[in-house]
Amino acid sequence: KIGKLTVIVGPMYSGKTTELLNYAEIYELGRKKILILKPQIDTRYSKDDVVTHKFFKMPARAIKDVQEMEEYYKSLNEKPDAIFIDEVHFFDSSLTKLVKEITKDGVDVYCAGLDMNYLWDPFETTAMLMAVADEVIKKRAVCEVCGEYKGTLSYKKKSNGGIFDVGGKEKYIAVCKECYEELKSKE
Ligand code: ADP
Ligand code: MG
Repeated sequence: KIGKLTVIVGPMYSGKTTELLNYAEIYELGRKKILILKPQIDTRYSKDDVVTHKFFKMPARAIKDVQEMEEYYKSLNEKPDAIFIDEVHFFDSSLTKLVKEITKDGVDVYCAGLDMNYLWDPFETTAMLMAVADEVIKKRAVCEVCGEYKGTLSYKKKSNGGIFDVGGKEKYIAVCKECYEELKSKE
């Protein structure tokens, strides 16, 4: 058996982590063995949990980089039924290869992350994972300017700090493409 790869993408506040943890709960309810991983860089709410913006959380292991993830995975005595990785855009694109190898062990993999940075450009790692996924789930947020449920971009209020810059609503808002262009023209 080859594990199934599901990739959950969208802008900030689109419910990616919620969706990821919903799937994790389904495996737990079915008494399956799961593992939740997240990049060490994301300590917004917690160091040892994956936490949604609604503060639903599940215990997770913080991982520094893809190499550490590979070493950790290989060190496991018992392979899990599924692995859940949040904020995949923070890992380098060699994650694609590792995820592929993990599915070859029969482990299902769920990845969640931003598909685009605040410049409306793709995040490479997420894009590559989407390419090899069995299923891609594109989430939307409510546009924080016009209120329509068509927010597909993350707008950065102060465009400093680069594309790998962790933050919440003080830094980023979810917007639709029309409102994104409108905000950009006023910068
Ligand atoms: P993500 O992981 O995509 O950033 P989460 O799953 O952590 O998102 O959080 C989703 C929750 O964020 C929603 O259930 C809602 O309560 C809240 N939220 C805040 N702002 C928005 C918005 N603009 N659009 C949709 N949900 C929002
Ligand atoms: Mg999230």
